[in-house]
Amino acid sequence: IYILGIESSCDDTSAAVLCNGKVLSNVVANQEIHTKYGGVVPELASRAHQQNIVPVIQQAIQQANIDKKDLHAIAFTRGPGLMGSLLVGTSFAKSLSMALNIPLIAVNHMQGHVLAHFIDDETQQKPPFPFLCLTISGGHTQIVKITNYFTMEVIGETTDDAVGEAYDKTAKILGLPYPGGPLVDKYAQLGNPKAFKFTKPKMDGLNFSFSGLKTAILYFIQKNVKENPNFIEENLYDICASVQYTIVTILFDKIKKAVKQTGITHIAIAGGVSANSEIRKTLKATEEKYGWTTYIPKFQYTTDNAAMIAIVGHLKYLEKDFSETTTVATARLKVQEG
Ligand code: ATP
Ligand code: FE
Repeated sequence: IYILGIESSCDDTSAAVLCNGKVLSNVVANQEIHTKYGGVVPELASRAHQQNIVPVIQQAIQQANIDKKDLHAIAFTRGPGLMGSLLVGTSFAKSLSMALNIPLIAVNHMQGHVLAHFIDDETQQKPPFPFLCLTISGGHTQIVKITNYFTMEVIGETTDDAVGEAYDKTAKILGLPYPGGPLVDKYAQLGNPKAFKFTKPKMDGLNFSFSGLKTAILYFIQKNVKENPNFIEENLYDICASVQYTIVTILFDKIKKAVKQTGITHIAIAGGVSANSEIRKTLKATEEKYGWTTYIPKFQYTTDNAAMIAIVGHLKYLEKDFSETTTVATARLKVQEG
């Protein structure tokens, strides 16, 4: 079964072809344009999607070495995301499914991040049900309990900023280019995580808060730069390491709590921030430390990509869970809403 996946929820235009859950191609066009604005500009994002969508899909089909007539269904991201961006992928998917006379399958982007674990790839192990997934991305921070492919329950989430935002805002304060998460990660590996101390938020239960940390970092930097204008340059690695240490501690305090509460010890991570080296290392270490079994996605399935949309499409295809051509893009969509 050949499925074409289309992802256009934010600033990456992506298309992928899967054959029975195996990735034949996964093309991602990043939009450079946002770097100079220090964040995603919605109007520019939808414009770039319009320019990229046809060549990206053509490339995905070509790389898969198939003809578009071989496709069995078209899966596309219906939400959540930026409306102008979602509309490009949604409209294109509908038109193509109509032209090829094959089913259309609407996919929830957040389910895509989680179900990327079920892409058929020798380097990835599939988690057994039920498992917990820490989904950490540019717009979300959630602990999700997954009972089967399409039964997901959010048992904890951020009450303000997402982890990805915390990373990107820290990077911005430090004068690093957008998106700063990967750079903070890179520099953190060269610094001392105990060099500076940031207070962790007091949040009951399984919910998170990251906005206080962002403010704490801002004040800390402003105060020190006033005393020493070269403070950032001289301490960049230590600052990044200390911030990363704080973020990782906040995340793992909550996962440990979630394990205790649910009794589930199969733990997965997903979303762009799950590319983070320290988070990966810390999760892996829990296998020996606490006896958990952990599931870490391949790098190319962490940040936005169409392979994760296509795998959801594949799973829905098997259930004959098709969408009407009247389906609309939805900017706000909860993970449990298929
Ligand atoms: P959402 O999925 O919530 O709609 P999104 O699709 O914009 O948001 P993703 O593409 O999943 O988000 O993730 C992007 C985020 O991941 C950015 O904030 C980026 O800085 C962060 N990120 C990527 N690599 C790393 C890394 N190595 N360390 C920390 N953060 C990272
Ligand atoms: Fe995403």
